[in-house]
Amino acid sequence: SKYSKKDIMKLVEEEDVEFIRLQFTDMHGMFKNVAITSSQLNKALDNRCMFDGSLIDGFVGIEESDLYLYPDYDTLQIFPWRPQQGKVARLICDVHRANGEPFEGDPRYILKKMIREAQDMGYTFEVGPECEFFLFHTDDSGQPTTTTHEKAGYFDISPVDLGENARRDMVLTLEEMGFEIESSHHEVASGQHEIDFKYDEALITADHIMTFKLAVRTIAKRHGLHATFMPKPKYGVHGSGMHTNMSLSKDGKNIFNDPSDPAGLSKEAYYFIGGIMKHIRAITAITNPIVNSYKRLVPGFDAPVYIAWSAVNRSPLIRIPSNKGEKTRVELRCPDASANPYLALAVCLAAGLDGIRNQIMPPKSIDRNIFGLSEQERQEMGIGMLPGTLIEAVQALEEDPYIQNVLGDHMCRRYLEAKKAEWTAYRTQVTSWEIAEYLYKI
Ligand code: GLU
Ligand code: MG
Ligand code: MG
Repeated sequence: SKYSKKDIMKLVEEEDVEFIRLQFTDMHGMFKNVAITSSQLNKALDNRCMFDGSLIDGFVGIEESDLYLYPDYDTLQIFPWRPQQGKVARLICDVHRANGEPFEGDPRYILKKMIREAQDMGYTFEVGPECEFFLFHTDDSGQPTTTTHEKAGYFDISPVDLGENARRDMVLTLEEMGFEIESSHHEVASGQHEIDFKYDEALITADHIMTFKLAVRTIAKRHGLHATFMPKPKYGVHGSGMHTNMSLSKDGKNIFNDPSDPAGLSKEAYYFIGGIMKHIRAITAITNPIVNSYKRLVPGFDAPVYIAWSAVNRSPLIRIPSNKGEKTRVELRCPDASANPYLALAVCLAAGLDGIRNQIMPPKSIDRNIFGLSEQERQEMGIGMLPGTLIEAVQALEEDPYIQNVLGDHMCRRYLEAKKAEWTAYRTQVTSWEIAEYLYKI
């Protein structure tokens, strides 16, 4: 690792760090932390910090509830938004059982396991996400609303873009935290934004996504705004996705790249796409994990609905961006930022590797607007659909033992249980749409 224990102790001393947050992620992708003072750092760095896992979603029962946090030294980061005297730093941790074994319900462990499998095949998995989010106003009591007063659209600039100052502050803060921000822009809907950071190895990217969301929410608050990564906060306007750009490298070289192919793609790239397409309906249970995710995956808002890929067209599920060479990559467009990034990247990598191992060729690319095809044309071309609701995705996961196995028994059981309960809670609601539609005329 980049830092040794001594480095960290020294840095904490020199930088006047008073609190250290030990962070980890629960099953639902929520960042959790326990704060310690610097006097406890030595103990924490020796993996001796214990917590009660029985209260964390998807973790353990009360009979086996003691879990330990093993800090990943390389994730040391000072929070720039906290006081600069008596600073606050964080370390992202792996979760272990009392006997020292890694805890199989830890999402970060599940991704690490998959990454090791890829490494055994000689591959490094690299990922770059495009996180979209809304900035909304808060009401008089500080509660978030879905109101924005701005009228800006795609790539607009101030003065119509009221989020510009907040976004600028976010970008500068993220850079201070070591992110390489490649671009940021106003998205299609009023109040909608996107900030893109550079791709990296999958584990680093998953950690980055967690930190990114925390930083964006924190800075928004400082500007009196509420940042939300909810996939579809408003009916009738664009939702927020997290397009996920993926590539594999071997010995430092991008192996998706093949200039002699018409689409610029290697065999491995085709197989990777084939594997993703084979498993995509189960994958969406992870990459699009909440009831609201499926309100985004509807026609008319640049979000994917059909299972297809293209090197020229933006409408399908999988797109090959035009940058080639070392930048050749596969862009999966269905994920949204409500996903647990560790689990999402684990299942995508697993599906891609399945494609490579079993040489799964994807169907022919669809290089025209799929939304313009009739149902019959789609059927003739063999174009399937993504799940239309959370429960369809959950059922697809139940029918895909390969993806279940990536999650492992512990996680898979709890995940399916939680998602079914979420679906039931939603299904039994009486919505305002129903009242407006039926109360009067029936
Ligand atoms: N916001 C769109 C979505 O829901 C994506 C727009 C874009 O192409 O960046 O996926
Ligand atoms: Mg975008
Ligand atoms: Mg994109």
